[in-house]
Amino acid sequence: MSYFSFIEDPRQDPKKLDVEERREAFKEIYNSFDLDSAKLQADRCLHCGNPYCEWKCPVHNYIPNWLQLIVENRLEEAAELSHQTNTLPEICGRICPQDRLCEGACTLNDGYGAVTIGNLERFITEEALARGWRPEVPEIIPNGKRVAVVGAGPAGLGCADILNRAGTEVVVFDRYPAVGGLLTFGIPSFKLEKEVVARRADLLQEMGIRFQLDTEVGKDISLTRLLEDFDAVFLGMGTYTAKTGDFPGEDLPGVLNALSYLIANTRHLMQLPPDPDLPYVSLSGKRVVVLGGGDTAMDCLRTAIRQGASSVTCAYRRDEENMPGSRREVANAREEGVKFLFNRQPVEVIGDAASGARGVRLVETRLGEPDAKGRRRPEIIPGSEQILDADAVIVAFGFDPSPAPWFAEHGISTDAHGRISTNEQFQTSNPRIFAGGDMRRGSDLVVTAVDEGRRAAEGILNQLGV
Ligand code: FAD
Ligand code: SF4
Repeated sequence: MSYFSFIEDPRQDPKKLDVEERREAFKEIYNSFDLDSAKLQADRCLHCGNPYCEWKCPVHNYIPNWLQLIVENRLEEAAELSHQTNTLPEICGRICPQDRLCEGACTLNDGYGAVTIGNLERFITEEALARGWRPEVPEIIPNGKRVAVVGAGPAGLGCADILNRAGTEVVVFDRYPAVGGLLTFGIPSFKLEKEVVARRADLLQEMGIRFQLDTEVGKDISLTRLLEDFDAVFLGMGTYTAKTGDFPGEDLPGVLNALSYLIANTRHLMQLPPDPDLPYVSLSGKRVVVLGGGDTAMDCLRTAIRQGASSVTCAYRRDEENMPGSRREVANAREEGVKFLFNRQPVEVIGDAASGARGVRLVETRLGEPDAKGRRRPEIIPGSEQILDADAVIVAFGFDPSPAPWFAEHGISTDAHGRISTNEQFQTSNPRIFAGGDMRRGSDLVVTAVDEGRRAAEGILNQLGV
């Protein structure tokens, strides 16, 4: 180990599975580090006085400190430290867009290649668990309070973790039959295997958190009942209203909603009973066009490849540089055989009700002036129409909030976009109800949802005076 490790040992990610194997299997494509490679990579850290990586990480992980513990092979201590700031470290290590977060802020980006922080975060928990370590449950002294958490996604789990560690009795309610929210039912197994989420759910249960699944609040149990039985309620219900393109043909047979397609595929792979509202669709042998350029679009493209589609094309209205999807996932999709068409905007799905979609009419775009968020607006180039043949079209334009019909009767306010409104303590306009994650900030990331859930728990504890 030397001060110049960052030059002598270049950045190295763990090996990926062979592309041919990837194209057929719904399993994670990255292998894990072994101890020697992890130590070598961790030792590249410069231990900057003011670590930008920590600031950029939404949960402010103690990154240089746990990297040093890896170098010293003190992995149980590294795992303990990593769990102080993050409820789902092995999951964030796998699926955070690190190039935009911790690794994007690493000083070594200055020509040497960032420390591979995400893979090392994953390695710490995986290796510590393999050595028999379990998250420490300190001598919890019950504080006599009970909190109901609605939603077993990252926000709900983050909130439940902190409340439980503070001695609060926590029950997490979810309408789905398994814990994880989009970790289980949205994000495909080639990015995050379901066993990893199930293992985390078991660990949280061992720590004392109770889950009541297959229970939809507002249908199977009312919010009024929760407010009678618990001292406070946290809402972490996500965002589930699919954005549409509002062009002709979007309702034709063969045009699929991205999240419904992904959830149905996951339920099929998990061998759960079919859900009539989310029918399983196989795109085997079909020419598939996915409209959109975010993470959900990438997941649909790569799912269609694994289902055996004959061709898979992504049409996105801006250029590659301005795509919202993580660079890593765009590269993975390309390697697996996805074709990208940039600066293309759909104006119609062609087909008829009897035979379904036959293609997409696209127009070419160029980037014009920036919009309110600073992103350059795509402008249509006149006379640039073309038709792309397709048997199936997946619309992946992102999600709008989905406020529940019972918010109003409980005095829960939303903003002009339908996102739940809270103060800095994550308290809604009903003082006994708190909220966080995608339903508060709009659809975003796993790590930002975990962060909000954890901070909301602090708000709840303050409010309850414990
Ligand atoms: P969710 O994960 O949506 O969890 C909400 C939970 O609330 C669900 O389990 C739902 O069943 C439950 N619920 C809702 N209403 C009720 C009710 N009335 N009663 C009981 N339960 C209820 N982020 C990343 O960081 N990296 C990625 O690679 C990534 N890929 C993604 C891929 C896809 C396809 C999608 C859709 C999202 C992806 N994201 C990714 C975003 C990330 O998954 C979300 O930002 C995150 O899951 C939000 O967490 P949450 O807890 O707020 O909501
Ligand atoms: Fe990086 Fe995400 Fe881990 Fe933070 S939680 S260190 S952003 S991978």
